Parts: sequence; structure tokens; C-alpha cells
Amino acid sequence: MRCIEITGSDDRMDCRDMFNGPINELPAKCPKCGFPDLDFVPKPYLLVRSKTLTPNELAMAANGNFLVRERIRQVLELIAPGQCTYYQTHFKGSSDSTPWFLAVPTKKVITAKVKASIRCCKTCQEPFSAHPGSQYSEWLFSPQADGKRGRGWTGESEFDVLKSSTWGSCTEGWNKWISRNLFISVRLLDLLKRVKAKGFYEATCGKPTAPDKDESAWVEERLERIKSHGIRLHPAGTLSQKDDKWFRGYLKSLSHAPKSPSDIKSVERRLRLKLPKSYADFITKIGPLSFDGVDNNQSTAVQMTTVDELDFTTYRRGTLQSDDEESQAIDGLMFARASDGDCFCFNIDKGRKEYAVFVYRHEFNHFEPYADSFVTCLQRFVGDQS
Ligand SMILES: [Zn+2]
Repeated sequence: MRCIEITGSDDRMDCRDMFNGPINELPAKCPKCGFPDLDFVPKPYLLVRSKTLTPNELAMAANGNFLVRERIRQVLELIAPGQCTYYQTHFKGSSDSTPWFLAVPTKKVITAKVKASIRCCKTCQEPFSAHPGSQYSEWLFSPQADGKRGRGWTGESEFDVLKSSTWGSCTEGWNKWISRNLFISVRLLDLLKRVKAKGFYEATCGKPTAPDKDESAWVEERLERIKSHGIRLHPAGTLSQKDDKWFRGYLKSLSHAPKSPSDIKSVERRLRLKLPKSYADFITKIGPLSFDGVDNNQSTAVQMTTVDELDFTTYRRGTLQSDDEESQAIDGLMFARASDGDCFCFNIDKGRKEYAVFVYRHEFNHFEPYADSFVTCLQRFVGDQS
């Protein structure tokens, strides 16, 4: 099947400084020149905490490996079984797990030959440098293989995921900088787009390669399989197509404009976070609403607060002193009050576009999950109006 080279953000989670300074050092394989063991996987594999907060679900890692969130790991294990080995990753300077897995492709491909004139180590035979531009004599599997440097290049492989066994470096030597390439099939990249997984791009200076008829048919069939295995077709923290459609329709059905416009941007600056996009849309276009008979309970009314009344202190993590462990994990931002004394909070999670909603039960001093987004929360507030 057709494969293409993949790139991602240069701000690598497993590097100190953009894509330089890998924080997971490899042991030397050669006792003479110290050439690293490129197939070694350091454990625990460490990531820089602040960089893990991206809402993407795919990212490049060192040496032709990559990083995936749990949903994409499930997709790949279903669609390309055995083609990667997955390792839990940890935050640098902590024993806590991150929400990312290191995916190490098990299939490798030789992509180029290094010029015979480059000096090699007598013990391990590895060249002292292998610059892909000037020190390769021949490309075998790469966008450069057809001499057109990436324009519409595809290579053939029987696998959907593979990395180069060939390595590249700068001209000064592999001890300055070393890398391997990642390739995935055209059909798998299309599938990842279809499940709205972000973070991978085709390494091309031209138009991305479109799937052909057979590849598209494969994608449709695999999407059905993903669905039937109960794996979500959209990332956590984003709206499903259905919920998004409902929300747009609901906004339209509410004819009134807010009495006083909400200045979302200045509130976000003050709180130093981005509010969920659907909430920001709603509060800007409609303003804070009240709802009666919420959850079929005639006596329960819910009133949304104005953006200036958003409570950013009372329900934050570590503030409530709840005995309930799950409640302690919630970092709450209160945006609506119920007439019975309970209230509704977003669980602040900077890795998500849409925050999950929890209801705070004041009698028990604990949180209960309420909805996976502001939109599904609204659906509960509004109730069945049909
Ligand atoms: Zn050596």
C-alpha cells in the first residue's frame, strides 16, 4: 500500500528545547565510538509536562517513534495490530503517568545509502555522520527517492506504520543531532483525519496525497469497525457532529440577544484560561439563561451566572476538602446554580477544548459527573421539548 512520510509540531514533548535536547537519553551501543542504541526505549519515558497539554492526539517523538493519546492507541491496536509497541509515559520530574503513550513502530525500512566516502567506526561500522542532503548517495524509500523532494511522493509497503532503520544527522556528526523518519499509509492518515485526530501532517511541499478508491473503501470499512468497538469517532473534549448540530439549531431557536454583552476575552485573560468554545458562543450570543424543571424535576430551576460571576475559587482542586477521591481530582469553575443549592462546574482541563461538566452536591460535599460538555449539559437543562 502507499505510504508517506509524516511530520508534526517541532515543539517535541520529549525534548528540552523545541526538537533539540532529547530528555530520554539512549545508551551507547558501540564501546568504541559510543554510537547510541537507536532501538532502545528508555523507561520510564519522560515528557515535558507543559507540552503534554496540547489538545492534539498525535505527536512526533525522537528516533522515528511517536506519541498517541489513549483513544488513538485503541484505534491503532484495532486497525494496525502488532505494528507498534506502546509504552506508558511519565512527566519529567514526577512519577505520575501522562495521558500519552509512546508508540514504537515494530516495522522498519531502509530509506537511503550513505556515501562510501564518509568515515565509519571500525568497530560498529556506523558512519560518523549521515546528512540526508549531502552525505547520502542514494534514496531508496523517501520523498527524495523520486528526485522531486516530496511532491506527491508515495512509497510501497505492506504495513500501515513503519519507521526508517536508516538514520540521519547533521554534517558535523551524529553526536550533535540524530533522527529517524516515520511513515504511515495514505489510508491510515486519512482514517486518522476522519476520526478527528490532530497532530500529524504529510511531509510534502505540495498538496497532501488524497486516498484513491480502494483506500477510501478501506477507510469506510475501518470506521465502521471502530464504531462497533465503541471507540469514539471524535476526541474527548470536542463536540460530536450530532451535538454540534443540535447546539447550532438551539442557538438559532433562541431569538433574544443578551441585555448586556459579555466580554469573554477579558474574563479569559483574568482567569488565564480559555473557556469552552460552546460556552463562550452561548454566553456571547444569548447571555446567561435560566431553566425550569431541569432533569424532569419540577421544583429544580437552574440559573447560569454572568461571566463576571463565574466562581473561580470555591471549587478549585484542593479547596473543597471532600473525602471523596474523585471529587478531589476535579478542578471546578462554577457557571450555574440550581435552586436546591447544588451548582454546576466545568472541570478545567487545559488539554481539552470542551470541558466536562460536574454537579456539586452541597449536602454531600462532592462532585458527580453531569455531562461531557457544555452542550450536553444544556441538553439536560433544556430537557425533552419534543
Ligand atoms: Zn562504533
